[in-house]
Amino acid sequence: MHDALRETLHTLHNAAARAQRPVPRLLAVSKTHPATAVAALGAAWRGLEPGVRPAFGENYVQEAAQKQAELAGADFEWHLIGHLQSNKAREAARLFDWVQTVDRPRLVEALSRHRVAAAPPLNVLVQVNIDDEASKHGCMPDAVEALADAIRAQPRLRLRGLMAIPAPDPATRGRAFQRMQALFSALQARHPGVDTLSMGMSDDFAEAVGAGATLVRIGSALFGARPASSPPRG
Ligand SMILES: *Cc1c(COP(=O)(O)O)cnc(C)c1O
Repeated sequence: MHDALRETLHTLHNAAARAQRPVPRLLAVSKTHPATAVAALGAAWRGLEPGVRPAFGENYVQEAAQKQAELAGADFEWHLIGHLQSNKAREAARLFDWVQTVDRPRLVEALSRHRVAAAPPLNVLVQVNIDDEASKHGCMPDAVEALADAIRAQPRLRLRGLMAIPAPDPATRGRAFQRMQALFSALQARHPGVDTLSMGMSDDFAEAVGAGATLVRIGSALFGARPASSPPRG
């Protein structure tokens, strides 16, 4: 019924078996794709994996708000995977189940303050700038510990782990994945509740699984190519 989804799940299971690791969670990255496509993928996913709660990733708060309104009543999990501006923290804390792109102390406090009391704590990942490129988002690796401690101190946030978007260069990304794996182990030693390492996209997720990814973010392999005008990476 949804060949791309079936193939992606198959590849994911194979990669996990080869790496002798648990099958990672799949996050379907739906940015630029309409609510109808999200609904269709969600239905197919429930058909293939009964009991699953389909999870979708969006890069922009406004786009997610509109899609969620169109999909009102659908029981999906929503992850923010794009850069979050501080002035959007309030809306993000209301709309998402997870924010994967926490990379500075100011966001920590704002997200916790705006998470409504009736909702469960907001799941958050620390986004790490693993390639040390000054132009990109994410905190430096040596800042992870302090940021994680700050998250743990907030009652309305739940620290779940780390996220990274390595440079798409096959020559360097293997090392980037391995550095993330090491950072993740260190974080787990300090905070035993931490369980999520988010890395790997359509072109490299099998390699990320080999390096211990527990959640992969896959867009084009599931939904097809995005319009050329959209930003390709976070
Ligand atoms: C767009 C995006 C993805 C998905 O990329 P694909 O190559 O389409 O699988 C994953 N993570 C982030 C942060 C993104 O912005």
